[in-house]
Amino acid sequence: MAGIQSEYHRTQHIGWLRAAVLGANDGIVSTASLILGVAAASVTQSAVLVAGVAGLVAGAMSMAAGEYVSVSSQSDTEQADIARERHELATDGARELAELAAIYERRGLDANLAQQVATQLTAKDALQAHTRDELGISDTTSANPLQAALVSALSFVVGAGLPLLTAWLAPYLYLTPVVAATSLLFLVILGGLAAHMGGAGIGKGILRVTFWGALAMACTAGVGWLFGVAL
Ligand SMILES: [Zn+2]
Repeated sequence: MAGIQSEYHRTQHIGWLRAAVLGANDGIVSTASLILGVAAASVTQSAVLVAGVAGLVAGAMSMAAGEYVSVSSQSDTEQADIARERHELATDGARELAELAAIYERRGLDANLAQQVATQLTAKDALQAHTRDELGISDTTSANPLQAALVSALSFVVGAGLPLLTAWLAPYLYLTPVVAATSLLFLVILGGLAAHMGGAGIGKGILRVTFWGALAMACTAGVGWLFGVAL
């Protein structure tokens, strides 16, 4: 209807938002942990940086591959469901119409109105009505595999670049505390930002991200230290 301004809903951007936050978070945690682990084994600064760069490239590629495969298989499943729906509509239109009316009735419409709505939407675009209201598939929920892969890889690189840059700039003597402290700070900022953009509680978002990040860094530094002692 002309003139009505639709309000902003975060679900419209959920696909890339989720991929971007996960990618950046993973980049910070895995690369900072790798750097702290290698540094704990008391090697040279250049060895730490080489390990960090290798971790960045490997992580970005695996994020891209993982996201591409998972989103592609999700879209394959959706396409298969839509193809089955198209077949059912072609072979048993009456049953499909009754099914659609039943869905609207379950959502609160009275039987008569539900039947009318189902009939009109079926007349306009039956497949679209069933895809949206029966299968729950819509443009906002189905992500594009390549876009998701690129967003994941790029956000991983940005996330990983932060502790790597810090490790490069920090005097080697203070590398471990500086990388640990700045990485936790980056996680606090990311956790708060992600929670705010997702409309969730900021405190909880920060706590969740920094707790797991700190745990990962501590465990990896511990393993690195053990290897340093053993070698
Ligand atoms: Zn159907």
